[in-house]
Amino acid sequence: MLQTKNYKFWFCTGSQDLYGDECLAKVAQHSKQIVDELNKTGILPYELVWKPTLITNELIRKTFNEANADEECAGVITWMHTFSPAKSWILGLQEYRKPLMHFHTQFNEEIPYDSIDMDFMNENQSAHGDREYGHIVSRMRIERKVVVGHWSDPVVVGKIASWMRTAVGIMESSHIRVMRVADNMRNVAVTEGDKVEAQIKFGWEVDAYPVNEIAESVADVSMSDTNALVDEYYDKYEILLEGRDPEEFKKHVAVQAQIELGFERFLEEKNYQAIVTHFGDLGALKQLPGLAIQRLMEKGYGFGAEGDWKVAAMVRLMKIMTAGMKDAKGTSMLEDYTYNLVKGKEGILQAHMLEICPTIAEGPISIKCQPLSMGDREDPARLVFTSKEGRGIATSLIDLGNRFRLIINDVDCKKNEKAMPKLPVATNFWTPQPDMYTGAEAWILAGGAHHTAFSYDITADQMGDWANAMGIEAVYIDKDTTIRGFKRDLMLGEVFYR
Ligand code: MN
Repeated sequence: MLQTKNYKFWFCTGSQDLYGDECLAKVAQHSKQIVDELNKTGILPYELVWKPTLITNELIRKTFNEANADEECAGVITWMHTFSPAKSWILGLQEYRKPLMHFHTQFNEEIPYDSIDMDFMNENQSAHGDREYGHIVSRMRIERKVVVGHWSDPVVVGKIASWMRTAVGIMESSHIRVMRVADNMRNVAVTEGDKVEAQIKFGWEVDAYPVNEIAESVADVSMSDTNALVDEYYDKYEILLEGRDPEEFKKHVAVQAQIELGFERFLEEKNYQAIVTHFGDLGALKQLPGLAIQRLMEKGYGFGAEGDWKVAAMVRLMKIMTAGMKDAKGTSMLEDYTYNLVKGKEGILQAHMLEICPTIAEGPISIKCQPLSMGDREDPARLVFTSKEGRGIATSLIDLGNRFRLIINDVDCKKNEKAMPKLPVATNFWTPQPDMYTGAEAWILAGGAHHTAFSYDITADQMGDWANAMGIEAVYIDKDTTIRGFKRDLMLGEVFYR
């Protein structure tokens, strides 16, 4: 489900023909070596492809247009080994449409004190060549990532790696298709939004289907397929009957297995990667999809509850950005549920009615079957667990009427202080940075929603870079946030993004 294209990134080195063939041969040799070494680190999630040195307007323009046309190219990384007069880049940059990184590095790590002479200076000019190039990109107001440092430094390579994930998010954003099988929950404001503008800005297609069409797909799933999946559930998860009859319990679980298979088939057939539901609009479905949605999210589908298509698309986007990540800790939709306001233990219990992605779980995962106390359907089966500790980000994309704003909050996830045996839903618990009080105040001032797209595996910078690439406002709530400063950020956004 999370398979995307076999993306690659092009490494383009800038120079000019003023220095003679010998120098240009060394430039090519150096950049090839850098590309080889970077590929060998095992840190980059996508392959770097070396391209011949860009020395003329024509070649620069041609290369950028080839990058545009190559479906597997997710971005170009540029570096000026020598001085490359930046006017030669104008046409190419004007025509280029994919993510751009400016890697400000140099071949040698240390100044060669004993041997440095004018030949060396002519050949190794990144320090000023990259400034010339950076100027034109800034003058042209082109969004790009600048990474500074020696190419052998793992920290620097890590920055390239995380930008690659952002770039793939930018490329894949326009392939996200959200299926709405229910409209927005009545009267709820923050989950609403302008779907046309979302398609213009982010490339998302958001389409509605009658809930009974997907319910038919569920009804068409055979008993044997359903039972096979139930067996898989019973192997994989703990069964917490809590006094219910085992056979009756299993029937409730089977309803979710049938929904999982029916939904997945319907989504695949119609080519959607994210879905929204609504507990108040279930048509012929016997239960609110709980366990079924949790499993689909685990497979990489985006999800938003109560018709929240913005969160569904964001969860899908963040799943793409973390795809294949080693030791990933998980990405899910969450909802601010209730507070602990005891001094020194402040935090927000995160949960939802049912639909939390098991990728964020730590420890055993159980199936429970409990009344929903909302809507009019059977007691739905759901996966129950607690979540991992550690840093994460909570994001909320809101529609302010004239524009979108992405709110990004660094949060510290903690173990629940005590077990909550009567709470039949999966949970996370976090303290927003910089602290509970400032974090929640800033979130509310920014207009952040109660639903969030959350990940342990993405940084605020990655999401901010994605927002910048989409041309929307991003605001950060983190360790450095003060309410005065944050209000100024919001004021600047009102002016800049009008
Ligand atoms: Mn909700």
